[in-house]
Amino acid sequence: MNEGIHFGRLEGELSAASSPVFSRAIVIGGSMAGLLAAKVLSDRYNEVIILERDELPDRPANRPGTPQDHHPHRLQDLGKSILEKLFPGWTQDLLAEGAYDREGKEMHLISPLAALQFPYEKDEGCSRPLLEWVIRRRVMAEPRIRVLQGHEAVSLRTKTAEDKVTVTGVRVKKHRGSDVEELQADLVVDASGRYSRLPTWLEEMGFGKPETEILHARLAYSSRYYRIPEHLQNKYSTVLIDGDPSLAEGSGVFSPIEDGLAETTIYRAGGHYPPVDPDKYEQAAAELINPLLAEILAQLEPVGNPRGFRVPECRLNHYESMPAWPIGLLVIGDSICNFDPIYGQGISVAAAEAAELGKALEEVGSATDAGWELKLLQRFGTIILPAWWTIVVADLRWPGVNYEGPLSRRGIEFCQKYLDIVRKQALQGGDMELFGLLMSVQGLDKRPSALFGEEAVRSILIRCKQAVWLEDELEAGETLGVFLERNLPAFDPAS
Ligand SMILES: Cc1cc2nc3c(=O)[nH]c(=O)nc-3n(C[C@H](O)[C@H](O)[C@H](O)COP(=O)(O)OP(=O)(O)OC[C@H]3O[C@@H](n4cnc5c(N)ncnc54)[C@H](O)[C@@H]3O)c2cc1C
Repeated sequence: MNEGIHFGRLEGELSAASSPVFSRAIVIGGSMAGLLAAKVLSDRYNEVIILERDELPDRPANRPGTPQDHHPHRLQDLGKSILEKLFPGWTQDLLAEGAYDREGKEMHLISPLAALQFPYEKDEGCSRPLLEWVIRRRVMAEPRIRVLQGHEAVSLRTKTAEDKVTVTGVRVKKHRGSDVEELQADLVVDASGRYSRLPTWLEEMGFGKPETEILHARLAYSSRYYRIPEHLQNKYSTVLIDGDPSLAEGSGVFSPIEDGLAETTIYRAGGHYPPVDPDKYEQAAAELINPLLAEILAQLEPVGNPRGFRVPECRLNHYESMPAWPIGLLVIGDSICNFDPIYGQGISVAAAEAAELGKALEEVGSATDAGWELKLLQRFGTIILPAWWTIVVADLRWPGVNYEGPLSRRGIEFCQKYLDIVRKQALQGGDMELFGLLMSVQGLDKRPSALFGEEAVRSILIRCKQAVWLEDELEAGETLGVFLERNLPAFDPAS
C-alpha cells in the first residue's frame, strides 16, 4: 500500500487540488503532529509524504509507535477548534464511529478544595486510537498526501554550498528489508515524537545540540478499560479527581468512550507509581481523595489488565535559539517538547504549531526565503512556553520532582501560592468567572498574562481579598511589575 517509491520518485501522478507552490515535503512520523503538519503542508506542496515506521492499522487500533495510545487522551478547546478548521465535521466522524456523546451529561470535577458538577455542552469521548484513526483517514484522503508505512527515517540528506547546509531529503529504511533508499524533498519536518533523533542528526551536521529544559517528573499512569452495563451508560460521564501532591495523593480519571467502554487512569508524579496489578488497581482508586471513581468501578466489568506508562522526564528542546539552522528543516510536536500528559496539552500544542506553519507558508514567497524555518520555530516557542511553564509550576508541587532549566524558582513558588489563592476563591468561593479564567489559561485558550500579568494579579488579589499577600512576597522596595518581569517568562514578546 502506497509503497511505489524509488530514490525520490513517486509512481503515479498526484492530482492538483488547489494551487501548490512548492514541490515536495516529507514528514517523519505519522502520529498526531505529523498528520496535522501534513494536512497544512498539502495546501502549498505538490506532494507531501508521511514516513511512518509502523504498519498502520486500517481501523482504530493500538500500534507500537504510539505506546501512549492505551491511555486516555483529551483535547483542549484550542486543539479542538484547530481540528475543526482543518477537518470540518471531524467530531461527526467520531460520533459515527461510536464515540460517546457527552452533550448534556454531567462532568464531575473533584479537587481537595471542592467537588463541582457541570453539564457538558458539545463534546465526545473516544480512545486515542479512534481519535488518530478519524484524523488519519481524513489525511489519507487528501490527494497530495501519501503515507509510506513501514518506512523508518534513518538520517537526513544534506548538501553544503557557500557554508550553508540544506536538508535535501531523508534516508529511509523499509521495515521489511535492509536497503536504505534516499528520498528527495524541499522541506523535511521531523514529527517523530519524544524519542526523535533530531538532536543527534543536527550534531552530525555540525550544528551542535539544542539547549534543553528538563522536568524530572517521574510520573506514571496506570490505565484500565471497563465495560459499562447498558443501564449505566448514561449515568456516569467524565469524572476527574485531582490529587493532592503535598500528600503524594494521586489523581484519577474516568471517561466513557466508544463501544460501551470507559477508560480509567490513576496518575501520580514524583516517583510514586500507581499499581498495574489488577488486584490492587481498584484499591488504589479507593485511596484517591474522593471515593466516586472506586464506587463507579465497583459496578463495571474490567476489560483486560491495567497498563502502566512511566515518563521519567519531560523535555523542551530549544531549537528556536540555536545559533544556526539548516535550510529546509522543521520540527513539530513532541519532538520539540513533551509535556506531563495529565494536563492534556500535547496534541493541542501540535495543532497550534501546525496552524502557525500554515500561516508561515502563506507568508513565505519561496521555499528558500532566508531563515524562515528558524523564525517559525521561534513562533512555535511562544506557543509552547505557556504550556511548558504550566506543567513546571504544577509538577514542582510533587515531592520527588526536579527541574533543570532557567525558570526562576522564586517566580514558580510565587505562582504556586498565587494559584492556591485563586483556586480557593474560584472553587470554594464559587467564583465561576475566575474559574473560567483559570480553565481558559490552563486550556491554552487565553495567554498567561490574563492571569499573571501585573494588572491581572493586582485585580484578582483584590477580588480574592488578598491584596495584602503581595506585601509578604515582594522584597523591600520591589514593585510587582519588576518582580514579574524578572521572575516570570516573557509570555508575550513584542512581535
Ligand atoms: C500516557 C500519555 C497520555 C497522553 N495524554 C494526552 C492527552 O490527554 N492530550 C494530549 O493532547 N496529549 C496527550 N499525550 C501526548 C500526545 O500523545 C502527543 O503529544 C501526541 O501524540 C503528539 O505527539 P507526536 O505526534 O509529536 O509524537 P508521537 O505521538 O510520539 O508519534 C511519533 C510518531 O513517529 C513515528 N516515528 C518515530 N520515529 C520514526 C522514524 N525514525 N521514522 C518514521 N517514523 C517514526 C512513530 O512510530 C510515531 O507514529 C499523552 C502522552 C502520554 C505518554
